[in-house]
Parts: sequence; structure tokens; C-alpha cells
Amino acid sequence: MGPPTSWLAAPSPESFPAPAALPTEADVVVIGGGLMGVSTAYWLARRGASVLLLEARGLGWGASGRNAGIYLSGLHAMEDDTVLRKVLSEEGFDPGYRRTGHLALATTPEIQQQYRAEVARRPDTAPPLHALDRAGCLAVLQQPIAEQVAGGRWLPDGHVIHPVRLVRGLAGAARRHGARIAPRTRALRVVAGRNAELRVRTTRGTVRAGQVVYACQAEVTRFCPTLSQAIRPVRGQMLVTEPLPPMFGPGLATDFGSVYWRQTDDGAIIIGGLRSASVAQDVDENVDSIVQSALERFLPATFPGFPRFRVQHRWAGVMDQSVDGRPLVGAVPWTQRQWVIAGFGGHGLPPGLAAARGLAEAMDAGCRAGPEPAFDPARALPGDQGGPR
Ligand SMILES: Cc1cc2nc3c(=O)[nH]c(=O)nc-3n(C[C@H](O)[C@H](O)[C@H](O)COP(=O)(O)OP(=O)(O)OC[C@H]3O[C@@H](n4cnc5c(N)ncnc54)[C@H](O)[C@@H]3O)c2cc1C
Repeated sequence: MGPPTSWLAAPSPESFPAPAALPTEADVVVIGGGLMGVSTAYWLARRGASVLLLEARGLGWGASGRNAGIYLSGLHAMEDDTVLRKVLSEEGFDPGYRRTGHLALATTPEIQQQYRAEVARRPDTAPPLHALDRAGCLAVLQQPIAEQVAGGRWLPDGHVIHPVRLVRGLAGAARRHGARIAPRTRALRVVAGRNAELRVRTTRGTVRAGQVVYACQAEVTRFCPTLSQAIRPVRGQMLVTEPLPPMFGPGLATDFGSVYWRQTDDGAIIIGGLRSASVAQDVDENVDSIVQSALERFLPATFPGFPRFRVQHRWAGVMDQSVDGRPLVGAVPWTQRQWVIAGFGGHGLPPGLAAARGLAEAMDAGCRAGPEPAFDPARALPGDQGGPR
């Protein structure tokens, strides 16, 4: 079977073959080879740990290779892109990180009012954000827009990125720092062994580990069932058009991300969202034809005169939503030497690298709450189920 997304079909300068044999031990085993897993492996290896990363499929085969590559830093310090820029310059790879600006279109006057309120309360120190009226949106996009668009919210500092080039670049850098990367190797079970070690059973044998990091999204609940109260999988749909003439310079969305899209360098438009078009509650990676049809209709309905197009790719991806919308980064409650980095929902690209760096530091320091109290996994469990600190 070929790669499921156009991002994953991109040629890779480095190959990551499945290992002939697994090492028998590692200081840290990282489970999951998406952005969070490769970032964690990278920082741990840089700190001198012997790291083994296990990925059940190919690197980036999960959400990290199925997203839109829209990179919108929020106000949290972990979303400051200084860390990304520094790593890209130190490690010398280019994941197509570009400043395009981002325009969100309000489809009702109420949403437009919420945009205005958001702009009004934004701290002066934050990157600028502007509320636009309808004329302002027309000026940014330079093309007709459907009547129901009341205005917009313009973030000049919005960025885009090629998410798979990011994952592969970080995996290559982690490997150069000594991490061992094992694609097509599924972790099956983690059990406490003798001498304070953990045993990770995999499809290629058992590895003894000093510590384990779960970077496998909501799949963490298979290993740590308590976390099923804190995190749940949600499916998103995407499609990619054939290459079209330049139409969208910035990344775009409607309202607060009900639909999101961007035009890639080759002219293809990648668009996702509209989950509410279908009542299906499935959380697998199968395409939902109702949502896909709604996505296909969206651009012609929103931009009068939009050209006819063929769809080149369709796919679905699973994101992991936490109970309060904040990620889980720190020790898994009621366990020893087991850590989690998950729960980033539909907004994992900006915080991923810095959150992983913070986790690596917290692991070294033995700080169970992780790098940021608001992300402490224990806080997401009800009552006293957060476990001992
Ligand atoms: C449709 C969609 C659109 C999105 N759009 C955006 C966007 O535009 N901007 C943005 O910032 N964020 C976006 N996101 C969110 C973003 O993609 C995620 O936050 C991020 O990729 C999560 O990375 P991860 O490493 O935690 O998960 P994943 O990339 O899913 O990685 C987890 C990996 O774990 C592996 N795994 C699972 N179980 C095991 C096991 N037992 N053993 C070994 N490996 C295992 C999986 O195969 C997978 O590769 C989107 C997500 C989706 C689904």
C-alpha cells in the first residue's frame, strides 16, 4: 500500500529502514514516531541518553503526516518559534517553514464580534492580530467572497510547514545524536521488571528500558488505562485538490477552525474540517464520504467563480483531545518511570518541539509534573486519581 497522504509521498533525503534486530536495552524507549516522539527522542539523545524510538508503521504515519501543516503560534511560551528556528539552523534541514500570514473568516456577525473582543484583549507584547471588516478580507484575498462572510481576523505572523519533512528532519537529527529509530516495530506491552527496569514487549522482541515515553497519542490508553479519562481520539478528514492557479497566499480558516485550508507550493489546496457534517463517531483513519463531499463543496460555495477541480488525495487522521484542551506532558500518574506527551488535539505543530524539550528536562530532573504545571497529566484526572506526586 502506498503512502496515505501527499505529505508522506514526498521524497525523503534520508531513509529509515525497519531494524534487522532491536537492541536489547536502552535508557529510554519512546513509543510513537510522530512529531512528539521524534522531538522527544531528539532532545533526550542530545542530553546523552541512549534512546530507542519504536514506531508501529512509518515515521509520521499518524496525525503528524495527516495534518494541514498550518503553524499558528499562540501566546504560550512553548509556541514561540525560536526553538524551531534554532533547531533548523543547528541541524541544517528545511521543512518549508514559511511566514504566509493567516486569515480566519467569520461566517456570522457574532463570530466577528468575538474576533474583535479577542483582538482588544490581546497583550501588546504578543504578535499583532487584526480584526478586519469584509472589505479588509477582500483586500487580503483579492477575490470575491460569499456574502455571509462578515469579516475576519488577520494574523500576519501565521506560518505553514511541511509536517513530514519536519518529522523526518528531526528523526535524522535524533539519529545523528545517537538515537536508534525503529519503524515498523509496534510496542505491545510495558511491564515492570526486576531492578527498577521496564520491559517493553514489541513485535520484534523485548527491550529493557530505564524509562518509557508514550508519544503515541490516544493509544497511550492501551498501556495506561487511567488516562482514558483524560484523552480521547477524534477523527478529522482532509482532501487535496489538483494544482490550481495561485489563489490563497495565507493559510485560512472559517470561524474558529471549523474548516481550514492552505495552498501548497505546487498549487494544490489542502483542506480539512467540517466534522459536524456527519453523525459518524468513528475514530479510525477511514475516509468519511459525507464529510469529504462537504469539503469538496466548501470552496466553490465560499468563493464565487472558484474553478472546477479534481481531488487528488483524500485521507482521514486521528487527533487526540484532552478533557480541558491542554496537552498531557509529564509522568503518567500511578506509574514509575513512565511518561507521556500527548493530547495536542488539532494544534500540535507549534508547541510540539518545545514541549518535548521540556519533557526531556523534566525527566532528567525527575520532575513528575513535567515542564509546565498546566500540562501535568495528573491535573486531567478527576478527584484524587492524579496519583502521588
Ligand atoms: C486531520 C488533522 C489535521 C490537523 N491539522 C493541524 C494543523 O494544521 N496544525 C497543527 O498545528 N496541528 C494539526 N493537527 C494536529 C497535529 O497533527 C497533531 O497534534 C500532531 O501531529 C500530534 O503528533 P503526535 O506525535 O502526538 O501524534 P502522531 O503523529 O499520531 O504520532 C503517534 C504515532 O504513534 C504510533 N503508534 C501508535 N501506537 C503505537 C505502538 N503501540 N507502538 C509503536 N508506535 C505506535 C502511530 O503509528 C503514530 O505514528 C491536525 C491533526 C489532524 C488529525
